[in-house]
Amino acid sequence: MDDSTGLILKALRFSARKHNDQRRKDSRSSPYVNHPIQVAETLWRVGGVRDVTLLIAAILHDTIEDTGTTPEEIRAEFGGDVLALVLEVTDDKSLPKQTRKQLQIQTAPHKSHNAKLLKLADKICNVDDIVHSPPADWTLERKREYLLWTEKVVAGLRGVNVKLEMAYDELLAEGKRALGLE
Ligand code: NDP
Ligand code: ZN
Repeated sequence: MDDSTGLILKALRFSARKHNDQRRKDSRSSPYVNHPIQVAETLWRVGGVRDVTLLIAAILHDTIEDTGTTPEEIRAEFGGDVLALVLEVTDDKSLPKQTRKQLQIQTAPHKSHNAKLLKLADKICNVDDIVHSPPADWTLERKREYLLWTEKVVAGLRGVNVKLEMAYDELLAEGKRALGLE
């Protein structure tokens, strides 16, 4: 085993601790950390990603946005490259929600290669959740709007990984059929 295995385990432990009291929005209120683990594993298995910095950033990708984690903590524990990637995929929560959603669409094409890969895997996992374990209280209309929004973000992420893009396209098509969008 090399050092990267230890770093990935350290990131899993860090993310599990940070997201400890947080739950996903599905009917079973699953542990939040299931999601960043799924994103990292999707990058590895579907996207063939072997870049350890990217895999660690995936494990940590929601810690600044959704927990009290500071950028300094991530820099101290995992270094500046991981921090830069996490920051690239972190929304500014001080902005109104609709602004944040619009900004994701506008900024996607200008993200770095690795941030695009991470955002693609994130959207794959969230569409998968909407289709297979959706927020319990969401109306059909809200689920539809969410799928259509991810499609606009993903349009700006294309050209970085064919396998991830195909996986997204298949899931989106499944979701659209399930929600009566086509
Ligand atoms: P939210 O941003 O509130 O929720 C989606 C986010 O929640 C995901 O991106 C994901 O983010 C996280 N998440 C946690 N658990 C789940 C899960 N089980 N399944 C999916 N995602 C999960 O969504 P929106 O407010 O954007 O709602 C979607 C659309 O519906 C929008 O276009 C909105 O305009 C519209 N709408 C909104 C209403 C509102 O009250 N806000 C009401 C009606 C419609 P992460 O990866 O960060 O965990
Ligand atoms: Zn996420």
